[in-house]
Amino acid sequence: MIVGGGPIGIACALEAKKKGLSYLILEKGTLVNSLYNYPSNMTFFSTSEKLELDEIPFISTNPKPHKQEALEYYRRIVTSNHLNIHLFEKVEKIDTEADLHKVTTSKRTYSSKNVIIATGFYDIPNYLNVPGEDLPKVAHYYGDPHFYATQKTIVVGASNSAVDAALEIYRKGGDVTMVVRGPAIGERVKYWVKPDIDNRIDEGSIKAIFNAEIKEIRENKVVITSKDGEQVLENDWVLLLTGYRPNFEFLKDMGIKLSEDGKRIPQYDPDTMESNVKGIYLAGVICGGVETHKWFIENSRVHAKMIMEDIASS
Ligand SMILES: Cc1cc2nc3c(=O)[nH]c(=O)nc-3n(C[C@H](O)[C@H](O)[C@H](O)COP(=O)(O)OP(=O)(O)OC[C@H]3O[C@@H](n4cnc5c(N)ncnc54)[C@H](O)[C@@H]3O)c2cc1C
Repeated sequence: MIVGGGPIGIACALEAKKKGLSYLILEKGTLVNSLYNYPSNMTFFSTSEKLELDEIPFISTNPKPHKQEALEYYRRIVTSNHLNIHLFEKVEKIDTEADLHKVTTSKRTYSSKNVIIATGFYDIPNYLNVPGEDLPKVAHYYGDPHFYATQKTIVVGASNSAVDAALEIYRKGGDVTMVVRGPAIGERVKYWVKPDIDNRIDEGSIKAIFNAEIKEIRENKVVITSKDGEQVLENDWVLLLTGYRPNFEFLKDMGIKLSEDGKRIPQYDPDTMESNVKGIYLAGVICGGVETHKWFIENSRVHAKMIMEDIASS
């Protein structure tokens, strides 16, 4: 059983098929659900060949593909290889009994000798836990800039997601203020984007308040605290782009141990990707714990081969 129909779950299915193993992908949403929910104008930082699975050519018009091209690519892989996948079927829990794993989904229960967890990190936002975070004007995911045209929009965060959103919304006529907890825009922001955001902030086209935090969100205002004290800003929309995290409870409930150093890295053998629970493997971005930038498609697609070699040889 492969839990998660993202790029890495698909890579595992391709590899299982090549090795003649029986397999099924269970995906709680649509195909490559996380990618489908990425911002509509999103361009990958990787070049297309780095996103390829099983050396199936990914042809894109520019070196770095656009979201729609990636959806096209991964969809075509699944349909033309006739991969076994159940969409809109969520895995609720996994219980291990002797050498078998009982996989309970929103629809039924399966038994499987081996289970691969490739559930990514994009389902659970890092909440700020401030009053007003549940108001309808607040979003933890950014879609399209047009929505924010002429609107007073606060973007919280200073990493790639926040910076991309701030620049796009500004260029579609939004009035953008970034609220950043640290003293500057993040160091991991794409090197070809960083000068753009720094220059827009320096010239005042995009306002930025550094060393600041949101204290409260109200219907038409936001209260911010910084070293200058408390400020109340007029505001229409708030985008809290402060990252996402894997479902740690899901992992713990199936018996997977997490590191206790704050990184919450799940325990696995780096040669086989098998977790501390025999027959349960980890693949893709989930392997990084809270460090969701550590593993991505480019460097974790190899997990598929490692896992299937171990399963086939056991
Ligand atoms: C804006 C953005 C840009 C990025 N650009 C790049 C890039 O250029 N290059 C790169 O290599 N990486 C990039 N990444 C990172 C990359 O998208 C992720 O690392 C990648 O999606 C990881 O693949 P995955 O299959 O491990 O997880 P995901 O793609 O997140 O797939 C996990 C799947 O599991 C499903 N799922 C979750 N829980 C359950 C459950 N209980 N039951 C069933 N299904 C479940 C989810 O719906 C999802 O479809 C980017 C990420 C973002 C956010």
